[in-house]
Amino acid sequence: MLKNQNKNLINAPNQVREYKSGNDSIRISSLGGFGDVTQNMFVYEFIPSGDVSKSQIIIVDCGVGFPEEDAFGVDLQIPDTQYLKDKKDRILGIFITHGHEDHIGAVRFILPILGQNIPIFAPKLATAFIEARLAEVNIRANIQNYDENSLPFSKGPFTVDPIRVTHSIPDTFHFAITTPIGIFYHGSDFKFDLFPLDGKGADYQKIARVGQTGKVIALMSDSLGSDHEGWSPSESSIAENFKNEIVSTKGRVFVTSISSNIIRWTQAIEYGKSVGRKIVIVGFSVDRAINIAKELEYLTLNETDIIPVERVKNFADNKLLFLVAGFAGQPDSALSKMIMGKHRIKIKSGDKVIFSSPDYIPGTTSNIFNMIDLLSKMGAEVVYGEKEELHVSGHGYQKEHSLLINLLKPKYLLPIGGNYRHLKSYQEMAKKLGFAEDKVILPDFDASATFNSNGSVDTNFHIPIRKVLIDGFGVGDVGTTVLRDRKTLAEDGMFSVVLLINKESGELNKPPVILSRGFVFMKENNELMEFLKVEATNKFNQATSSPANMDFIREEVQAYLEEIIYKKTGRQPMVLPLVIEV
Ligand SMILES: [Zn+2]
Repeated sequence: MLKNQNKNLINAPNQVREYKSGNDSIRISSLGGFGDVTQNMFVYEFIPSGDVSKSQIIIVDCGVGFPEEDAFGVDLQIPDTQYLKDKKDRILGIFITHGHEDHIGAVRFILPILGQNIPIFAPKLATAFIEARLAEVNIRANIQNYDENSLPFSKGPFTVDPIRVTHSIPDTFHFAITTPIGIFYHGSDFKFDLFPLDGKGADYQKIARVGQTGKVIALMSDSLGSDHEGWSPSESSIAENFKNEIVSTKGRVFVTSISSNIIRWTQAIEYGKSVGRKIVIVGFSVDRAINIAKELEYLTLNETDIIPVERVKNFADNKLLFLVAGFAGQPDSALSKMIMGKHRIKIKSGDKVIFSSPDYIPGTTSNIFNMIDLLSKMGAEVVYGEKEELHVSGHGYQKEHSLLINLLKPKYLLPIGGNYRHLKSYQEMAKKLGFAEDKVILPDFDASATFNSNGSVDTNFHIPIRKVLIDGFGVGDVGTTVLRDRKTLAEDGMFSVVLLINKESGELNKPPVILSRGFVFMKENNELMEFLKVEATNKFNQATSSPANMDFIREEVQAYLEEIIYKKTGRQPMVLPLVIEV
């Protein structure tokens, strides 16, 4: 019933509700912080007559971030939901724009915090990705599908109307969010691809109709591509190069991309098959994405086209095409393991590795270039990135932004999905379109933008935002001490000396045992190890000659070994003496 009442909301501008009450407001907060490309999670909060305790909320997206590279071993970062702690019962729904991890990846962590009954609205492909992830952790969610034909969703004071756009993943949408004070257009990740590979273009007419209402207060816009002039290249413009790289190769071909990029996998499979190659899927996330794409009929792939990793050796090199997970260098991904020699499949000279993926995702860039270097050293031919025209950005450039702004005619612009430099270049571009500087809102990292029904806007309100790091399955249990220890381990390794002490005599039972990880290859450094054993023994004897306890011995040996290892090698591994009485 509710849905029908709002059936033609966007089509019939006069039906947009006019609220005369003087001091209602819409507060928009970013739980991942403004000025962050990833961990997208936006809160739209309707505050009636200035009474925050009666506010009602919808959420747009719920994505993960990739921690900075000095957060060793920490897998992911998620938005901080502290602000919602006392407002859980006022959350009317979570609306998902598209299936990229930085927009959906936190659902499995955040849903148990906010409540599993909160309805989630998502496009078909994103739904499949979310459900696959939730099944792994045994969480049931209330997810409702939508597509371009769905009626707008009416939730309390909000009416959310999805609008199809194009991006680097199919099934991407924007939202026209009608509220009592006007329309907010949530324009997250998009480009205007006039030749999309799946044939589904953006719904320009619908965007124009939203603009024609004259009621668009603010456009929250993707800004990542706004430092590029002109129009972003179409996905179809790389098809030819991508095809050539695959069909012209004599040896084995490996393709890596963002797992969710099912259009790219579909292309690779088609080109590979055209020259008689069999498809080898390596890595859980790619396998899952391809299965989802098959189920949703984005791609047709017969069982006979695929061969399992174990049977690779039965096929000639030029009959194999590998689709590999891990373009961003995640340590436990298939590609990293291959490079480290820890995978059944070994990279060899004559292989070609194609990175059809972005080389700019905050937190991953240097990993990617490290892998490219290592692969090249191993004799593989590596082709990558925009230089080779194997990847186009999924984010619109200035002309696309200008078109969206002109269609919507918003009063305010609020760039999102970019680092500060992108937000700044968005502001510069908007100036050329006649937007005064104060019409482009750039809130602080933790500030909210509050739009008042009298037309004013302020960014004075701040919300609490901490870094919430995910390590394996634990939420937020990784402290700075742990990070510092991991940093030491990663850079200089670990060095452990085991001292077995005879309980009766108080003397060493046998010479110290030395274990090391990531410090030096022990076999090649016998001399150093022997030296350290002798030194550890001497230090032990010295420490026990005075009245001593085990803790004292441990500390003495540790400090001494740290000092001489640094003198000898210039490195500072973590030194862990184990003193055991036997
Ligand atoms: Zn995206």
